[in-house]
Amino acid sequence: MPARLEEVKHAKQEGIEFQVLTAPVEFLSDGKGWLTGARCIKMELGEPDASGRRRPVEIKGSEFDLPLSVAVIAIGTSANPIVQSTTPGLNTNKKGYIEADATSQRTSRKGVFAGGDIVTGSATVILAMGAGRRAAKGIHDYLTAGDW
Ligand SMILES: Cc1cc2nc3c(=O)[nH]c(=O)nc-3n(C[C@H](O)[C@H](O)[C@H](O)COP(=O)(O)OP(=O)(O)OC[C@H]3O[C@@H](n4cnc5c(N)ncnc54)[C@H](O)[C@@H]3O)c2cc1C
Repeated sequence: MPARLEEVKHAKQEGIEFQVLTAPVEFLSDGKGWLTGARCIKMELGEPDASGRRRPVEIKGSEFDLPLSVAVIAIGTSANPIVQSTTPGLNTNKKGYIEADATSQRTSRKGVFAGGDIVTGSATVILAMGAGRRAAKGIHDYLTAGDW
């Protein structure tokens, strides 16, 4: 579980129930567009793979329905692929993050500046704040140069 020990402890204190070795299979609805639950399946640890890590495998027939009214999908962080398909002229790298100049935070698209996780990938607040400050200066320089 990629979280700090105290984060796990605090989550449990706040009433979060961890469903370990459980995988969601599908969302269930009432047929009118409202969520009613998630069908899940129990997993068990199989044989170790080449890296030595035991991979979870499904326990056949262990499906069960978890009643829900809200689901928040939080399975890792990555760039939204919509960025590439909706914004022509904005260069992204092979992971889908926006390419920006390290000093001015300028992107390949005129008048567009970027910084933070969408440029570096998942990082830290302090790095995002630094990029914000550089971008502010970059935008100021761009506007005062009048080349827009
Ligand atoms: C679980 C977790 C724990 C973390 N813990 C730490 C920590 O302890 N310390 C630390 O330094 N960093 C931590 N981080 C990392 C930190 O949160 C990020 O590096 C930082 O928030 C990046 O800032 P950002 O401004 O680039 O992006 P974000 O904070 O992600 O801000 C992007 C904003 O853009 C909005 N947005 C997205 N799409 C659109 C759109 N189309 N139109 C308008 N708005 C849009 C989003 O809603 C969001 O508000 C953690 C991250 C996670 C996920």
